[in-house]
Amino acid sequence: MAPRLGTVARADHSLPDVALTRRTLDRRADRRGDPTLLTGLLADPATRVFRLCGDATAVEEGEDHVVRVVLGAPVPADADHLVVYLGEHGGAQHLGVVEDVPADAEPRPGLRTLRQVGARLDDLGASLFATTLALANWHRAHGHCPRCGAPTVPVLAGWVRRCPADGSEHYPRTDVAVIMAVVDDADRLLLARGRGFRSAGMSVLAGFVEPGETLAAAVAREVHEEVGLEVDDVTYLGDQPWPFPSSLMVGFTARARGTELRLQEDEIAAARWFTREELLAAVADGSLVISGRVSIARRLVEHWFGGPIEAPEVPLR
Ligand SMILES: [Zn+2]
Repeated sequence: MAPRLGTVARADHSLPDVALTRRTLDRRADRRGDPTLLTGLLADPATRVFRLCGDATAVEEGEDHVVRVVLGAPVPADADHLVVYLGEHGGAQHLGVVEDVPADAEPRPGLRTLRQVGARLDDLGASLFATTLALANWHRAHGHCPRCGAPTVPVLAGWVRRCPADGSEHYPRTDVAVIMAVVDDADRLLLARGRGFRSAGMSVLAGFVEPGETLAAAVAREVHEEVGLEVDDVTYLGDQPWPFPSSLMVGFTARARGTELRLQEDEIAAARWFTREELLAAVADGSLVISGRVSIARRLVEHWFGGPIEAPEVPLR
């Protein structure tokens, strides 16, 4: 029996190989409480250091077109930056070192962002990059205590910030968002152009889960708010860490009851239904730009389509 609103079904086959989701690093949370961990690892030449410069890192591309992050040994200057313990892999200990750069600084040659290379990163690189970027974004935005306003300091190997004034501890936050491929009874897919997208850009609907809300309720609310449709058969397909700056995207399919769209004009510039043939033709003639390969949005579109879609890698915004 088809599940109704308020519950979430799980698909027989969830999305395979979503970028940034393969787990290879043993995070070894049990080690974070050791107050000598970071200094010890910074003094050990066997430690592997992942360096984040702003939001980019150094990478190298193999002949197999797989991208790997460049890891180095610790250097004395690392101690001047935010250092986080990332975990263990292949017997080696991994640190993330976060170097802040001014927002208006010229990008350093050879460095790449996670958006640029995430779809082609090897499993270890994806884990190191996504985790370090998410932690860096959180540290940058949470330098002061939400209780008393005093500056906080990183503790537990970079996984907690503590307020020296009142002793309160603050943990990295993850903002949960739902993202959903809405289809109609004719199996057409709904795509929408958000305000701020480039003129041809369209994607599946998405939005943040609100306090006190279930995932299924968030899917139904967002679809109703953005395009005026009621949905049922909300089915979980997969999820993806999305550290831009701190999201977890939880992906669903949902079936629309009806096809008539009523757009939320301050958020949605355009929306329409696509058959598979219409989508392919629009991508081919350039009138439609879809989300990049790194995103679960793209995988949701391809799941509906039934296979990979060849499309230029163009940012939606
Ligand atoms: Zn405080």
